[in-house]
Amino acid sequence: KFMPLPYTETVETICPYCGVGCTLKLKVRDNKITDVMSVPGNVNNNLLCVKGRFAHDFVSSEDRLKTPLIRKNGVLEEATWDEAYDLIIQKLKEAVAEGPQAVAGFSSARCTNEENYLFQKFIRSVGKTNNVDHCARLCHASTVAGLAKSFGSGAMTNSIEEVDVMDVILVSGSNTTETHPVIGAKIKQRVQKGAALIVAEPRKIELAKYADVYLQIKPGTNVALFNGLMKAILDEHLEDRDFINERTENFDAFEAYLNTITVEECAEICGVDPEDMRKAARLYATRDKGGIFYSMGVTQHATGTDGVMSTANLAMMTGKIGREGCGVNPLRGQNNVQGACDMGALPGDFTGYQKTNNPDVLAKFEQAWGTELPTNAGHTITEIVDDVDKNIVKFLYIMGENPLVSDPNTNHVKEAFEKANFIVLQDIFLTETSEYADVVLPAMVYAEKDGTFTNTERRVQLLRKAVKAPGVAKEDWRIICELAQRMGAEGFNFNSSAEIMDEIASVTPSYAGVSHERLERGDRIQWPCPDKESEGTKFLHKGQFTRGKGMFNVAHYIAPEDQPDDTYPMILMTGRILQHYHTRTMTKRTAGIQQIVGDPFFEINPKTAEEHGFSEGELIQVTSPRGSVTAKAVYNQGIQENTLFMPFHYGDKGANCLTGGKVDPIAKIPPFKVCKVFLEEAK
Ligand code: SF4
Repeated sequence: KFMPLPYTETVETICPYCGVGCTLKLKVRDNKITDVMSVPGNVNNNLLCVKGRFAHDFVSSEDRLKTPLIRKNGVLEEATWDEAYDLIIQKLKEAVAEGPQAVAGFSSARCTNEENYLFQKFIRSVGKTNNVDHCARLCHASTVAGLAKSFGSGAMTNSIEEVDVMDVILVSGSNTTETHPVIGAKIKQRVQKGAALIVAEPRKIELAKYADVYLQIKPGTNVALFNGLMKAILDEHLEDRDFINERTENFDAFEAYLNTITVEECAEICGVDPEDMRKAARLYATRDKGGIFYSMGVTQHATGTDGVMSTANLAMMTGKIGREGCGVNPLRGQNNVQGACDMGALPGDFTGYQKTNNPDVLAKFEQAWGTELPTNAGHTITEIVDDVDKNIVKFLYIMGENPLVSDPNTNHVKEAFEKANFIVLQDIFLTETSEYADVVLPAMVYAEKDGTFTNTERRVQLLRKAVKAPGVAKEDWRIICELAQRMGAEGFNFNSSAEIMDEIASVTPSYAGVSHERLERGDRIQWPCPDKESEGTKFLHKGQFTRGKGMFNVAHYIAPEDQPDDTYPMILMTGRILQHYHTRTMTKRTAGIQQIVGDPFFEINPKTAEEHGFSEGELIQVTSPRGSVTAKAVYNQGIQENTLFMPFHYGDKGANCLTGGKVDPIAKIPPFKVCKVFLEEAK
């Protein structure tokens, strides 16, 4: 007779993968996750994608780090926590004595809010520097900068559930069904119920099949796209003058700029039919409720901030912001990249985007943390890598990041890290980056700890411990506290992540009403949540913008630095795919996922491949001014000729060996989406 084995426990927690923040029910037996189920309600309402549903084998992988490691004679050897801490403290003290330029830290969008808060507090109050950043620099730094300029705060303005009331949805720079699958599914469901869909993407993504208008724009032409749409709206007098007059400023200058361009010019830059551009503009402007959804196709350019401000201009011009179902929605990539930004893991911001260069804010945090804080202009991730290269940074503390795969121009990162004076890496596995670490500290995964993640719609959600960690691994927050206490620092004496959240709430107006206790009893909170009675905020900018009036910012189209030329006649774009997450440290450890997509590949238009004498499945070598990568060719009819796409998830000569170039001057985000290359036979 079949007798199902009893599960010892079922634990409800939050998915560790993308920024949608789906609720998961983990089934646990003998300290092992045996199954993952969805639950009704919450963000995902029974939907899960392949990663959330199946990619949990990494938690109990034999490869997990189980003890601290110290490099001796070039080899990482097992050590005790005391030995690791002693070495770190010695090196940190030496670096702090040299001044704020000598210490830097990379925080992590995979860690909890509480851990990100403590990490930046540690780097600032113990490391005495503002050199703290994280991988939002590589994905949505331009959102934080651009929407702050336009609206006063940089986050998704709507809630995910508002997709259900939108009459028109504009998707640009987001392959939503692959990168945010549950939101992609909701968009498709809404379109099937009658909403109009406009998709503007260089590749014919799945959502393009559902679109009323699909604009196959050339890579890097987003600013021209949005300017063209707005010019078309102006030409047909479809702008919302009442909203513009009451809620915004600087429209006169913006309108004057639009009057210097034409739809035809913009359409030509984008490589699309001007009539399609006008049709899209009409559709967006004339439907009542409309949301713009974008992601890294807009942000990851040297003009990323301009692209983001352009989405804001379009929403304000048509009055589609500050109402239910109307807004601008940057889809944040990683599970807690919104939270890591909110928690001040950014060089110029304390929590809740309180500026480090504001004397009142600085005084407030010095008072709260009981110590003198640094005033240096902190450096960003790419600047810190340069500082390591020049031996300016002597102590680099990396928590849950893998810059050897995620950062642009891998060869440059390698050269820099080979010269590094001292690198501490805190992670769950040995990674490509650990090859350069002097000390490796074993951390816990999402299922082994409590805390909170903030999803892409500003919703703060509770993680719950389901299994015990291997070996002597510790929570990231506990490691930070122990290091700080050994440095003699006050203010790191926490017994739980709930206590850390209480401190966050006390110094962060937008999180003031958040507590683990409220979340545990079922309160569903989206920031801003100014006090314990507040239910949070479903959509932003109702009545007034965070900055008061919304600001129109003129954005001129500037062509990407990497233009095809005689030597490099093709363009490479990079991005994500459904099955893998970031640098694959977690997803590659689920056999089923690896079976679906195991090896790296280049998507290529069959015509381009055949013109070069290749056929599908053959290895091709692609070279940019920064390096060469070999991978198999995969045909995609929906990619433009002479254009390639490669997912960036793969280390060991992956896509970021090819990327690099001038960063956005405001957000300092690198251009990952337009990289000139040439193609040849694999050597
Ligand atoms: Fe949901 Fe994203 Fe996790 Fe998929 S990866 S289950 S969409 S949170």
